Amino acid sequence: MLGLMQDWPLVVHKIIDHAALYHGDREIVSRTVEGPIHRTNYRKVQGRARRVAKALDRFGIKVGDRIGTLAWNTHRHIETWYGITGIGAIYHTLNPRLFPEQLIYIASHAEDRVLFFDTSFANLVAEIAPKLPSIKLYVALTDRANLPKAEIPNLVAYEDFIAEPADDFTWKDFDENTACGLCYTSGTTGNPKGVLYSHRSNTLHALVASQADAQGVRGVDSVLPVVPMFHANAWALAFVGPMMGAKLVLPGPKLDGESVYELLDTEKVTMTAAVPTVWLMLLQYLEQTGKMLPYLDRVLIGGSACPRSMIEIFERKYEVEVVHAWGMTEMSPLGTLGTLKAGMDTLPYEEQLSVKLKQGHPPFSVEMKIVDDEDRELPRDGKAFGRLKVRGPAVAKAYFKGEGESAFDSEDWFDTGDVATLDTDGYMTITDRAKDVIKSGGEWISSIEIENVAVGHPAVAEAAVIGVAHPKWDERPLLIVVLKPGQKATKDEILKYLSGKIAKWWMPDDVAFVDEIPHTATGKIQKIALRQRFGSYRLPTAAE
Ligand code: ADP
Repeated sequence: MLGLMQDWPLVVHKIIDHAALYHGDREIVSRTVEGPIHRTNYRKVQGRARRVAKALDRFGIKVGDRIGTLAWNTHRHIETWYGITGIGAIYHTLNPRLFPEQLIYIASHAEDRVLFFDTSFANLVAEIAPKLPSIKLYVALTDRANLPKAEIPNLVAYEDFIAEPADDFTWKDFDENTACGLCYTSGTTGNPKGVLYSHRSNTLHALVASQADAQGVRGVDSVLPVVPMFHANAWALAFVGPMMGAKLVLPGPKLDGESVYELLDTEKVTMTAAVPTVWLMLLQYLEQTGKMLPYLDRVLIGGSACPRSMIEIFERKYEVEVVHAWGMTEMSPLGTLGTLKAGMDTLPYEEQLSVKLKQGHPPFSVEMKIVDDEDRELPRDGKAFGRLKVRGPAVAKAYFKGEGESAFDSEDWFDTGDVATLDTDGYMTITDRAKDVIKSGGEWISSIEIENVAVGHPAVAEAAVIGVAHPKWDERPLLIVVLKPGQKATKDEILKYLSGKIAKWWMPDDVAFVDEIPHTATGKIQKIALRQRFGSYRLPTAAE
């Protein structure tokens, strides 16, 4: 017998409709690409999203067509997302930090029909446009006065594109499983792979993300997603904000410490989210200026491992609660969040810190297990580590156009490519990405754990650990360090600092000092580049 409840489709335009109707005056504040701060609200954004939908519909865009966006977080970018999805087309976020050839590959693979882009990327767009025959229209996210001069075919200003159609468009009707968004992930091997979200998965994921023990966003919050919309859906905040009626503060192109601080302060931001590198910049700015964070209540940190020292400074010095989160593009992206469980708030602070350093526990709807190389499930004892597999309604079941099939098994378990432990309290800890783990004498060494400790040294700005060939042990860890400006430290001082904080046999065999550590387009340490650079590195222990 089936239940007698309504089959109310979970489609994302219902989110902006809800916001417009019940939180219509709630503000969306953007730092524009042109410079000035812009203020609007959910009612106006919904109206303009309908204009985007109508203009795209007139242009001939159909259900299932892909529409590229190459843009920072601003109100206009949000309007395009809702406008695109409201006609059943698919927003396809492009990461401007990728190389032109990668963008050409991705936009061609996706067969994007239209590209919305910020004027700051005009030269990049002019460079790639000749190689993108599928794109028939380029919409610069600005007004006519600021239209870029670069040579871009079929170019129109966004404000002109949406000026004429009225905002009376009725969203199209389609099934909740209709594709909604597309985001390419660097993937562990081969070409970038497309993750194709559905209306249902995005809506469910936003509901899950907003839970109190997840992002915990409320209508009274002022939310600053520093994490870009092109980085795994801005971790759902472009949906969660309007769903909850929270004020949204959008940083546009400026993600440096001073600019982020200015928005946190003037817009009285209570909740914010970004990768650790962004918070390093903010904390450095606060340290230099002596400024504090009186309004900020909590900060979500994920995308790569959050160092212990960062959690401690935020919580102890600035009284901002840190929620360490883990996820990936294939998971929409949230997988786990590190909020404390019952009873843990009375633990000594150092122990609470150790819990928060873990990547967290999954909210309802995320299933996880760890397996060995033969795909046998490993115990959840906090010690055994193996490949982390996940399943759930907001987890990919395949990549766009059927690539990377080996990551999915017949029971829909997706292999994350991460190596992790699961403990008896339900917390997951990432030891490494499978390809970064250091294999020494048949045992595994966690590069992340050593990095986490190393950045706690007062002179160290950033640290990376890679495995380097060793005649006896196969691989041994090499610690690569960037020092803070004006600071000094020797190899011995750094190794002494690590001693006692990590297992003896994990001690790096050498320390290399560099001016800069390369990062990927999503802000992670680029281990491949480091492994290439230090490929023929001879460890001092290699001769032993
Ligand atoms: P890309 O591989 O394109 O950078 P993602 O942003 O989807 O794409 O990256 C997901 C990966 O980032 C995860 O599989 C994991 O290795 C890493 N990651 C994300 N959050 C954390 C975290 N809190 N701690 C450690 N690693 C993390």
